[in-house]
Amino acid sequence: MSRLVAVSNRVGSLRGATRAGGLAVALAEALQTRRGLWFGWSGEVVEQSADQVRRQTAGGVTRATVDLTTVEHDDYYNGFANACLWPLFHYRLDLTSFDRRFYDSYQRVNRRFAHALIPLLRDDDLVWVHDYHLLPFGDMLRDAGCEQKLGFFLHIPFPVREVFTTLPMHDRLARALMAYDLIGFQTDGDVQRFRDYVLREAGGRRDGDTLTAYGRTVTVKAFPIGIDAEQFAEMAASDEAGRDAARLKAAIFNRVQIIGVDRLDYTKGIPERFHAYQTLLENYPDTHGQISFLQIAPTSRGEVPEYIHLRHELETLAGHINGRFAQLDWTPLRYINRAITRRQLAGLYRMSRIGFVTPLRDGMNLVAKEYVAAQDPDDPGVLVLSRFAGSVKQMPAALIVNPYDTAGVAETLQKARHMPLAERCARYQELMKGLIENNVGKWSDDFVGTLERLGAEMALA
Ligand code: ADP
Repeated sequence: MSRLVAVSNRVGSLRGATRAGGLAVALAEALQTRRGLWFGWSGEVVEQSADQVRRQTAGGVTRATVDLTTVEHDDYYNGFANACLWPLFHYRLDLTSFDRRFYDSYQRVNRRFAHALIPLLRDDDLVWVHDYHLLPFGDMLRDAGCEQKLGFFLHIPFPVREVFTTLPMHDRLARALMAYDLIGFQTDGDVQRFRDYVLREAGGRRDGDTLTAYGRTVTVKAFPIGIDAEQFAEMAASDEAGRDAARLKAAIFNRVQIIGVDRLDYTKGIPERFHAYQTLLENYPDTHGQISFLQIAPTSRGEVPEYIHLRHELETLAGHINGRFAQLDWTPLRYINRAITRRQLAGLYRMSRIGFVTPLRDGMNLVAKEYVAAQDPDDPGVLVLSRFAGSVKQMPAALIVNPYDTAGVAETLQKARHMPLAERCARYQELMKGLIENNVGKWSDDFVGTLERLGAEMALA
């Protein structure tokens, strides 16, 4: 079995993986099975020269990390990755910075990382690169002589051609992507959009799952990421998770609880969600004193100006809604601006009758999946899900909403509130079946298995 080398902007902790959840768990498991190597940024920022690679091995898995300099952190990470690619790929051209300096830094960091990894590679390694921070990483490995099989997975959406081409360097990024042997996206929609770009802008050719352009042939497929649904369900049902949930239950006097959980990010549609909740309170006075909305949104990327602005906006909105509707014994909206443990989160999902997940654009959205997995099978809650989340294709039994349609979302919340037990159970069962079938272990197995088979096919050819 080939060794797996995972490359991501941040290298997760192997020990704390169950707490971290999501990608960290999925990768840690795949790496353990294949006695792998995990390479990327250490999370440390230093003033100067960050070339040293630190290695640490535990349980058969090696973490190899490099630091970023302050300038790289500003220009590559906060700059090109989070102030250019992130907003652009989520259709927020209005928030996108097209500063050339950021791109130059992005290229330099990718090259530096690639050169740091090369000496650590073995001939038959499978290299799996993750996400928008590292689009040209594979191309730079190839430039440095790498012949190993290279896979890339994009965790965020791939935008329509008209949006992607607003990037002055779109052609160079697309060309660089073709250095991989396998490119994975979250949904078929993302695959189609990437294909459309390559066929129309780069004069590429398609043959089934493969695309040929810029002198290379690449396999392009959707691998929708999942969660460990059974483990999450167990955690949600644990006594420990129940304790925090019970505290909240007492505080809200058994009112119908609506929950929203997101990183504080403009793609998540949190202000729109607050407006929809306000419209619910306006249009359906029978909700007064009967429901309670808990929004948990820890600050992320707090150094990027748009995120600071969003935080202020939400504080103002939350104050406004409570100021207008609260009664002496009823707080309509609780807004918590910090992270909580996964176990606490699982307990809170479980006691919430409605999971309110309304991103304006999202590659997948794991909160939607976690909310469903956490439900009590005998008395499950209802998932209200944005049509613009990647997870929507796999979760048609949710109540699907358009997050821009404030009145429509309010109406759907009211419907969710009154949904009979039999319908809640039927929807939950259908959703949970999908989550178990497409869990996160299957996601990483599918990707790595596909990459490995491509290798075998290449060797036979
Ligand atoms: P994104 O990757 O864009 O942040 P996802 O919904 O795909 O969005 O994944 C978010 C992950 O972060 C989920 O696993 C979720 O449980 C976790 N998370 C989000 N908010 C919090 C919070 N307040 N406390 C703890 N974990 C959180």
